[in-house]
Amino acid sequence: MKIEPQHVVSLTYDLYVNQEDGTEALVESATLEQPLTFLYGAGQMLPKFEENLSTLSTGDGFDFRLAAQDAYGEYSDEAVASLPKDMFAGTDMPEVGAILPLQDNQGNRFQGQVVSVAEDSVIVDLNHPMAGQELHFKGNIVNVRPANPEELSHGHAHGPDGHHSH
Ligand SMILES: [Zn+2]
Repeated sequence: MKIEPQHVVSLTYDLYVNQEDGTEALVESATLEQPLTFLYGAGQMLPKFEENLSTLSTGDGFDFRLAAQDAYGEYSDEAVASLPKDMFAGTDMPEVGAILPLQDNQGNRFQGQVVSVAEDSVIVDLNHPMAGQELHFKGNIVNVRPANPEELSHGHAHGPDGHHSH
């Protein structure tokens, strides 16, 4: 079956990013046992990721690269925040390298990585961990099926067979 909006796609992939020595490092995978399953065209995936799959059908392979601006954005030196240490009163002080779950005034959740701990503040890098990276995806389309009405009303896929409920 061909990939189209309102269809649920299951695929395997290996995601590679470039390293400083010119080789690629594998950073993420989805396997046949646990494929990535999503409702195509529902805005859950990177738009350019879906665009690269748009002509494919069950059984097809893919191998494409997304530039940083089409993936998680360029790295921004300004996306660094200073959090008052008071925020961590009553909890363990975070260590350099720790990933902190954060929330803004609108309730949007995001993550920040601690880059340093100063006398009265914690400095957090808010860039996406893959900001500034070209993403290289290789994989196979495992299955394509029409989404069921429940999935369409929820706006997401319910697993490879559509039977997962919640
Ligand atoms: Zn649902």
